[in-house]
Amino acid sequence: MDIEHNIDKLRQEILRQDREELIFNDFQKALPRLRTTSLYRFFKAMPKGRLMHAHIEASFDIHYMLSLSLASDDVYVFMDDETPEYRYCQLAHKAWFPGFVIPDGWVNLKSAVAGNPLLKDELYNMCTSGKENIDENIWPKFEAIFDRFKAVNNFKPFFVKTYTKVLMDMAAEGLLGVDWRYISQTIFDEDGRQLTADEYVDTLKDIEAAVRGTYPYFHINIIYCYYKGVPAGTIPERLEHARHLQEKYPDMFIGFDMVGSEDCGKDLLYYTPVLREARVPIIMHAGESVDPGNRNIEYALDLGIKRLGHGLNLYLHPGLESRVKADNVMLEVCPLSNQLLGYVNDLRKHPAAGYIKRGLNVTLNSDDCAIFDTAYITDDLLLAYLCWNLSIADIKRCLKNSLEGDRALEDLFESSWAVFESSL
Ligand SMILES: [Zn+2]
Repeated sequence: MDIEHNIDKLRQEILRQDREELIFNDFQKALPRLRTTSLYRFFKAMPKGRLMHAHIEASFDIHYMLSLSLASDDVYVFMDDETPEYRYCQLAHKAWFPGFVIPDGWVNLKSAVAGNPLLKDELYNMCTSGKENIDENIWPKFEAIFDRFKAVNNFKPFFVKTYTKVLMDMAAEGLLGVDWRYISQTIFDEDGRQLTADEYVDTLKDIEAAVRGTYPYFHINIIYCYYKGVPAGTIPERLEHARHLQEKYPDMFIGFDMVGSEDCGKDLLYYTPVLREARVPIIMHAGESVDPGNRNIEYALDLGIKRLGHGLNLYLHPGLESRVKADNVMLEVCPLSNQLLGYVNDLRKHPAAGYIKRGLNVTLNSDDCAIFDTAYITDDLLLAYLCWNLSIADIKRCLKNSLEGDRALEDLFESSWAVFESSL
């Protein structure tokens, strides 16, 4: 079968239909219909590489998290006006509250939903984000969403169930592993005890071991994250913690990153002196911006980094592209995230289409799939194929780039690909 020709025919059929503008301008809203197509099934069944850019705090099945919460007698929801401490519609397991004392404004979730069935939809809307949320406050609104589910997701019994399902679903989607960004938060048990960061990692390792019973190749890496915008003086303590975790778990911790809006008033140059002393590999979100004055990619390259989170605004700095190519720096492109956080309105204008065609080392990723209610990787692959006029060979190259030359994984990928092709 001529895959390129036949799959392109499926693409042209979809693009000829009247929802074309929705595909380019609000891909998330086009997804429910796209998921019913043969083209979607093709991308879902396609072997994948590793997911290189995803935040563990926002990479899970949002529907599963809500159903776990709704089924529990011990989950509470904050239904009062927001305070500095609590978000409206924030969820929490009772073990999260000191002494199990439920503060004012919190109500039992089951009772609240029994009295107001529409609350389920409101919770979903408050825990997810779409293009309609984009305005000058998108970043504070986006960051607030993480607070809404952390006190249920981080309840250890829920955490274990949720992330076991995440890894099984990732593997079923064809992924061979995940590099997870992790902000040093931790989980709490039934007694309300906060586990240490080491215990958090041990829990993740147990989950990984269970999943490897079915998918022996599946591996989690962790990239330790802290926030952009904080005083530089607070970074060395975090770096020390990252080094501790890397020494203790050398097969898991692979680097240090800083997350959050890049247009926050503090650029990477400000952090460069402390990052030069990191003694842990730097893997940096850089170029997640459309501000021509944002030079974070240049500063990140000056730090010697080999992977750029997003690298979106590389096109604004043409001198740097040859440097990125010559050094084979990986661009961890997250196209749907870029649209939903307001960086790219019409996906046809996303610069990564050009990066791929000019042979840069691009991987495709989902970033925060729980908040966007998207797949771990399939939706972003479909997006790239539909909106950027790529070939299947281009998509396959992006998937292989994520394997970073690991021969065992490349062999596994190629043999899965051969089976996939012969099944078409
Ligand atoms: Zn990210």
